[in-house]
Amino acid sequence: MTDYDHDFYNPTPEPARAVIRAVPHPAELNPRGFSITCTGCGARRDWLLLAVHDQIFVRCRCAHEWREPDLTRADFDEHYTEPEHEWDDFDTAMRALAFDGMMAGAIWNE
Ligand SMILES: [Zn+2]
Repeated sequence: MTDYDHDFYNPTPEPARAVIRAVPHPAELNPRGFSITCTGCGARRDWLLLAVHDQIFVRCRCAHEWREPDLTRADFDEHYTEPEHEWDDFDTAMRALAFDGMMAGAIWNE
């Protein structure tokens, strides 16, 4: 069994570089009326939303990520304002955003 149930890391080849947009979402997400829970660590909030073409992925602080079919581009655009950063590759971006698993289990006091 793998953590990855999608082909995010093996996208179909295409001429243009894939544009990945990312936006942090510190609060809970409940597109179906109940909160999304990370199956990796049980977290219920503090997500990174990723938009790849028309698909929306949710990534947890523990680095678990999955495609969330209940989230649409419209949902994403609602949270997304404008590009703040650009990274050369996905791994660099995840490290910069602290979503590479190093912060797994971190408790944020507000
Ligand atoms: Zn998690």
